[in-house]
Amino acid sequence: METTLVLLKPSCVQRQLIGEIVNRFERRGLRISGMKMMQLSDEILREHYAHLVDKPFFPGLCASMQASPVVAMAISGVEAVQVVRTMAGVTNGRQAAPGTIRGDYSVSNQQNIVHASDSVENAAIEVARFFRPEEVFDYESGAFAYIYGAGECK
Ligand code: UDP
Ligand code: MG
Repeated sequence: METTLVLLKPSCVQRQLIGEIVNRFERRGLRISGMKMMQLSDEILREHYAHLVDKPFFPGLCASMQASPVVAMAISGVEAVQVVRTMAGVTNGRQAAPGTIRGDYSVSNQQNIVHASDSVENAAIEVARFFRPEEVFDYESGAFAYIYGAGECK
């Protein structure tokens, strides 16, 4: 099992899509291991988007991420990092495939509804960036016996 970080961005929160997007992850069979609303600081954004600090759109990206609280989620499942990233779709909502979150709810390269970790290594770093250890719950999900085949859920 892997645990990945999802942020429901202000473009999701402001458009009152929190429930719809959470529902997609639950419906898929993923387990919500942690979830909280938070207002992001300059510091956490500089760390989280360190690969983008020199881009011309960085100030606008920070402003868009601070326009309202976000909802941070730790989401678990077998190969959850890749499963969630595929559900999110490509960065630019105008190019994202229908059926993906970005492809169904956005037409912007910035206001694209969700953040999803892009690798197993970054997922561990990002979950730890947004959640204290006691805020992420490794609880038994009774449904997993019906979500995964025998021996598949390790
Ligand atoms: N972004 C932007 N303009 C760009 C590229 C990215 O505003 O030209 C924003 C967008 O909100 C994106 C975030 O920066 O989700 C992080 O960019 P990254 O390349 O990591 O894309 P992601 O992993 O979110 O698909
Ligand atoms: Mg990224």
